[in-house]
Amino acid sequence: MPPQKTILHIEDNFENRVLVRRLLQSADYQVLEAENALQAINHLRRVRPDLILMDINMPDVDGYTLTAKLKTIPGIKQIPIVAITANAMRGDREKTLRAGCDGYIEKPIDIDTFLDKVAYFLRPTTSRGEFNG
Ligand code: MN
Repeated sequence: MPPQKTILHIEDNFENRVLVRRLLQSADYQVLEAENALQAINHLRRVRPDLILMDINMPDVDGYTLTAKLKTIPGIKQIPIVAITANAMRGDREKTLRAGCDGYIEKPIDIDTFLDKVAYFLRPTTSRGEFNG
């Protein structure tokens, strides 16, 4: 079996954390959770997850700000960050990408496709069709 992948989910909403945890654990991912930026940073002092799932709308530090911050930190900036956002407007998607997110998954979460999307973002970027010659 391949080594178990670790995913850090940053989300202030309890119900959303439970749903995502259930889905991820059903696929045998190891799940770390943070309710806010401070908890996320504390996790990242100790572990290097394979993927970060980032809520955008959070009190205190929002997901745009936290992503931009994490993408400046050596050793952390390489970790793919996928926004989970209810902000489905086109401008908001572009804002997640400008903040440094590697992609986004829309809320409400589609439980039939969520794990496929997660698996996609866990692949090396060269397997996602982004070749640089
Ligand atoms: Mn939220």
